[in-house]
Amino acid sequence: MTNGHCLCGAVAYSVSGAPIWSGHCHCNSCRRNSGAAVASYVAFANDDFRVTTGQMSEYESSPGVKRYFCNRCGTPMAFRADKYPTEVHLFLGSLVNPQDFPAQFEVFCADKLPWLSIDNDIKRYETLPPA
Ligand SMILES: [Zn+2]
Ligand SMILES: [Zn+2]
Repeated sequence: MTNGHCLCGAVAYSVSGAPIWSGHCHCNSCRRNSGAAVASYVAFANDDFRVTTGQMSEYESSPGVKRYFCNRCGTPMAFRADKYPTEVHLFLGSLVNPQDFPAQFEVFCADKLPWLSIDNDIKRYETLPPA
């Protein structure tokens, strides 16, 4: 159980239940959306997630993929894809306690910035993990 909010506080959410996974994504879309060298997410079940303050705005970045953000301060907050219909992927940095969700893997390493290395012993995939 945890909660999170955007930079300005206009949008906040709470989560009950355990995370499904935590990981970094190096794909170009997540990099551009986050503005950071790598985007980090924690996945929870949709049923465990609820927005408690304000409302997230959404943008469909590719067919079946939606990215959610605060339309006041611009903080990226969540990701959903038709491919993962029961999950919401929250931006790690929007949680109040990101330190409690260590990444278990990196995906889309094929797109990783060549000078970036995450120096710990986690799984790495060129694109997505095998189904
Ligand atoms: Zn905000
Ligand atoms: Zn990505």
